[in-house]
Amino acid sequence: VSDQAFVTLATNDIYCQGALVLGQSLRNQRATRRLVVLITPQVSNLLRKVLKVFDEVIEVNLIDSADYIHLAFLKRPELGVTLTKLHCWTLTHYSKCVFLDADTLVLSNIDELFDRTEFSAAPDPGWPDCFNSGVFVFQPSLETHGLLLQHATDHGSFDGADQGLLNSFFSSWSTADIHKHLPFIYNLSSNTAYTYSPAFKRFGSSVKVVHFLGPTKPWNYKYNPQTGSVLEEGSGLANQHQTSFLNLWWKIYQHSILPLYE
Ligand code: UDP
Ligand code: MN
Repeated sequence: VSDQAFVTLATNDIYCQGALVLGQSLRNQRATRRLVVLITPQVSNLLRKVLKVFDEVIEVNLIDSADYIHLAFLKRPELGVTLTKLHCWTLTHYSKCVFLDADTLVLSNIDELFDRTEFSAAPDPGWPDCFNSGVFVFQPSLETHGLLLQHATDHGSFDGADQGLLNSFFSSWSTADIHKHLPFIYNLSSNTAYTYSPAFKRFGSSVKVVHFLGPTKPWNYKYNPQTGSVLEEGSGLANQHQTSFLNLWWKIYQHSILPLYE
């Protein structure tokens, strides 16, 4: 299906590592849609070459964009990365897309997400009446893009990032249509899900997308290729599940991404 795509975003070389593992995980699970990564000018030439594993690498440049984007950006400089994420709505050569944060990892095929419509997302574990904006189904449209930018300029974002903005823009999400609530297994936060461990025991094996949300990303850990395990060093690795998701991330990085640099 060439008019639908999985889309991610990486504004620097560090987040590119996440995007690469995500892209590889989608390929490993035989994704049948195009793989697209949005980058910004800060991304190095080396990484641009490596990113060729995506079907499309699209550079977006806020400052060179249309005047209204420039204005929104100047008025609210803290929304820089947020406004960059909104660029995914400009991918109008696709009829429907699934956005995935660069800090997500796909554990099984998720093509069925394309049966959903805009705007579909999973609840945020911290405040389930809000959706988490790490995984969502959307329909590219310049009109929607313009309205989102206008909303950002007029109202800002209550959390200073894309999640607050998107939740106030798609404000009927929590009540209007249950089909737009993606099951939690499509956006399982690796660090919080186990506060309800019986549920994890019951449903954890069906998890399809893990989201390493929060300040510590998989690439911040040290990994021992001999043991195939991240080094814990008294870090806050609360439990075995979190460790095993991190080990999965690193396994892909070690086996499939590092060789691309050679
Ligand atoms: N992102 C990026 N560069 C940054 C920060 C964020 O490219 O400096 C992108 C990346 O795709 C990332 C997403 O924006 O996954 C959302 O940020 P993050 O995942 O760090 O937020 P969290 O999910 O932890 O709230
Ligand atoms: Mn994230």
